[in-house]
Amino acid sequence: MNAKLIDGKAISAKKREEIRQKSELFEKETGRKICLAVVLIGNDPASEVYVRNKIRGCEATNIKSLSYTLPATITQAQAEEVVRALAVDDAVDGILVQLPLPAGLNETKILNLIPPEKDVDGFHPVNVGNLVLGKESTVACTPMGVMTMLHEYGVEISGKNAVVIGRSNIVGKPMALLLLRENATVTVCHSKTKNLKEICKNADILVAAIGRPAFVTADMVKEGAVVIDVGINRVDGKLKGDVDFEKVGEKASYITPVPGGVGPMTITTLLENTYLCGVKRYRAKKR
Ligand code: NAD
Repeated sequence: MNAKLIDGKAISAKKREEIRQKSELFEKETGRKICLAVVLIGNDPASEVYVRNKIRGCEATNIKSLSYTLPATITQAQAEEVVRALAVDDAVDGILVQLPLPAGLNETKILNLIPPEKDVDGFHPVNVGNLVLGKESTVACTPMGVMTMLHEYGVEISGKNAVVIGRSNIVGKPMALLLLRENATVTVCHSKTKNLKEICKNADILVAAIGRPAFVTADMVKEGAVVIDVGINRVDGKLKGDVDFEKVGEKASYITPVPGGVGPMTITTLLENTYLCGVKRYRAKKR
């Protein structure tokens, strides 16, 4: 393979150590730990794994975690009550409601009860709006983690052609806005895009967030492009990305592996967002 690997695990370990040191200093200064409340409703196995990993991440970075595991049979009113209580709890700096929610629960209504200053996932309309306006905000963890990876490897963004495949609210859209914020010329592609291959071939930075294994093939990639694979697909019990890793790796200059690329950075960015929410709340109270 010609491309250099962008090692999400290594960057993640380095960032976690930095967060741990900063959150220990925070505890020394304030006499309390930064605190993340994690709400899991129902027993989706993948969600259980994600929540467990997030709680482990908290332990590794000196962040206190409060875990709320609620049955799938919970009513909308009961779920809203849990989030409302956390929203006004002064000891809680960040609130995370693990998605997807069981059928029958109104996700938007529940998520919008998380105040923007405790919205560690960056999903609240105020945070999304501030990102669009180019103002300070908490940004969704996966695209923010991708930006950290690009920065860590010194990838030039300004003036480059960036193509994002996927337009979801949690990955594609904020990814495009973050690249635009750093002066890339950004094209967003999706399931209705025509001439996808031609558009992708023009990309200096190509981000795949589709959810289809090996969707991005070598003939879609420009020689020397930086290729970021956000996809997580289970194929024959193994995790596969959205990029044909081996063949694209022959053409790209940098590439992220799956697993070990974007995935580890997502949880680490959640921990970073939690730390920042804690610090901002503390400073706002001192004023
Ligand atoms: P999504 O299903 O919400 O969005 C997929 C996007 O892909 C859509 O915007 C759709 O228009 C586009 N798409 C689908 N088929 C296409 C096609 N044929 N051509 C062009 N575009 C097409 O998914 P998502 O939540 O954005 O996640 C995308 C992938 O990233 C999934 O594999 C998911 O598991 C993964 N993911 C990984 C992380 C991580 O931490 N690494 C985090 C979130 C999501």
